[in-house]
Amino acid sequence: MGPCGARDVVLGERFRVTAARRSLRTLLDVHCADLGACRQCGHSDASVVPILSEARSPKVMLVGQAPGKVELDVRRPFAGRAGKTLFKWLERAGLDEHEARESIYISAITRCYPGPSPTGRGDRVPSLRERSECGSWLDEELRLIRPELIIPVGRLAIDRFLGPLPLENVVGRIHENRNQDTLARVIPLPHPSGASSWPNVPANRVLLDAAIDLLRVELQRLCIGKPMSQTRRTA
Ligand code: SF4
Repeated sequence: MGPCGARDVVLGERFRVTAARRSLRTLLDVHCADLGACRQCGHSDASVVPILSEARSPKVMLVGQAPGKVELDVRRPFAGRAGKTLFKWLERAGLDEHEARESIYISAITRCYPGPSPTGRGDRVPSLRERSECGSWLDEELRLIRPELIIPVGRLAIDRFLGPLPLENVVGRIHENRNQDTLARVIPLPHPSGASSWPNVPANRVLLDAAIDLLRVELQRLCIGKPMSQTRRTA
């Protein structure tokens, strides 16, 4: 019996884990109801609402930058072009999109669509005030979920967990983040929006491949996703 099956052998432990997951589900339901009603940043457009994750029993958190217009329209994180690329990367790590949305809590630095960039290229980068105000929701999720693995996606999210280091220094490596008494592993990914050419540079593609390999190993360790033998190693 492998380590994933062995975990369920001790009945007392299984009951403890099941009870904890059930209570996490309730806590996240309440948290998301509160978050969904947040209008703290005072957007002038009343149709701009926070975009919420679907996962309720996660051991893993993925943290993006902010939702885009497509995400606002369908009320789902990473529902647009960036999501297509992100879920391709996760599939290579052993999780299809459905599994990923079920087992990974998708959070973000800010939860509301910030509107288009004044330059006309892409979306506006959330202001420092918005990041700071919205940060309390992320802090609360880290406290509730106590994730064993955190996947920061893109510059702002990577800064939040690892500080302002060049992507070349952090992508393709495994890091640690302490949140109160919980130590999480951190595997950063570049932003998949296509706005940055970083992932297209050959040397950076090697780093991205290494990050996906690390993700596959960590997800297996957490008993999430397909066994390694069924996982494609390349795009
Ligand atoms: S961006 Fe965050 S803090 Fe601001 S209104 Fe949306 S959920 Fe609330």
